[in-house]
Amino acid sequence: MKKRITAPREVLHELQQDYFICTKCKICQAVHVQFCTDSRFWRNCPSGTRFRWDAYYASGKMEIARGLHIHEIEPSDSLRHILYTCMLCSSCQEQCWEVKQLHPTRVFELMREKAVREGWGPMPEHEPLRESLEKNDNPCGMEADKRGEWAKGLDLKRLPEEKAEVLFYAGDAYSSDPSLFPAVRAAARILQLGGLDLGILGAEEKSDGALMLLLGDRDFFETFAFDNLETFNSLGVKMIVTPDAHAAWVFKEEYSRGLDPEIKVRHVSEVLDRMVRKGNLKPREEVSLKAVYHDPCKLGRRFDIYDPPRRVLQAIPGLELLEFPRAAFNSLCCGGGGGVPYAFPDYALWTAKERLYEAEWTGAEAVVTSCPYCLQMFRKAVEATGSSLKIYDLAQPLLMSLGEEV
Ligand code: SF4
Ligand code: SF4
Repeated sequence: MKKRITAPREVLHELQQDYFICTKCKICQAVHVQFCTDSRFWRNCPSGTRFRWDAYYASGKMEIARGLHIHEIEPSDSLRHILYTCMLCSSCQEQCWEVKQLHPTRVFELMREKAVREGWGPMPEHEPLRESLEKNDNPCGMEADKRGEWAKGLDLKRLPEEKAEVLFYAGDAYSSDPSLFPAVRAAARILQLGGLDLGILGAEEKSDGALMLLLGDRDFFETFAFDNLETFNSLGVKMIVTPDAHAAWVFKEEYSRGLDPEIKVRHVSEVLDRMVRKGNLKPREEVSLKAVYHDPCKLGRRFDIYDPPRRVLQAIPGLELLEFPRAAFNSLCCGGGGGVPYAFPDYALWTAKERLYEAEWTGAEAVVTSCPYCLQMFRKAVEATGSSLKIYDLAQPLLMSLGEEV
């Protein structure tokens, strides 16, 4: 094992104060209701709402953590099901923090790390992801040399052969799912229009490893982090920009310890917002659309990136920005969190359909979001329900408004 280079390692028992203190008050089982006037949308926890037993809510899993700690209970198939149907969406933590200041989602992340260390996690259904990462450096089954194909025809510099000030890191999903290529191409093109000196790694780009960390396999995650940090620190770039919310999460939170302090990490929504506010981008074409913005869990609750994407959408002429009843810190997970879709696709889709229903309830014509996994889940829900809602990445309506196509 290579030396530890990512965020300082915590183990579950270091958070014992949290799971011993948890009072089972169940405040974490609903959104902040004062900001959500329609009781139809008060529920916040996908696993608790779907499977109903208290064990599937944060309060129950905190009790399970306590039970494991004092060996009152032992790992079992049902316990593993409870742990891996959690979306790790942080909504429970958002609610708990206001009153009790505990970290239930962090406890569940560390429970997964314990499960992997002890050999009872993740789910057997997650094995193909690990195999693909070992074989292809990505979890999607895509051959490694195809990774840069999304950028065909775009005039982007190739790192490390060429030099650029900014690395555009596309990420696993945007690189491997052709239905997402228009979104990632739009993001890269807009950054160029905004004046960034942009380069990509193309086929040399490797997985960020975020999915393995979500599943609790920190050792495997760190092998990707180690290789990526070596590459990133050698490129001479000043900034890494990514449209992938999960990549932004691990780069900001986990890689920061090993990353050259001169290199800034930004999610693309932060950069687009800055460009629009500074006048480097001038949206001018009318985009006649009622759109509702869905906050990805890993951008919103993790980093408070709520306003930047909204400001970008508000700058587009003709676009009317609506809000979900569960918006911003109250946002419901799309169903794509925690590696859940790979092991429990029906339950993931059930969650996405609930969020799609909520979008339709607002009267929107389109859902806009800023995460490839959210895009995938919403599109699956549209396909399953026959909904007429359009699903866009944040960059797409902005590119339309700039009068460009990719
Ligand atoms: S995790 Fe927090 S909000 Fe939830 S039951 Fe425990 S103390 Fe209450
Ligand atoms: S992280 Fe999300 S899915 Fe998991 S217990 Fe908390 S609210 Fe429920």
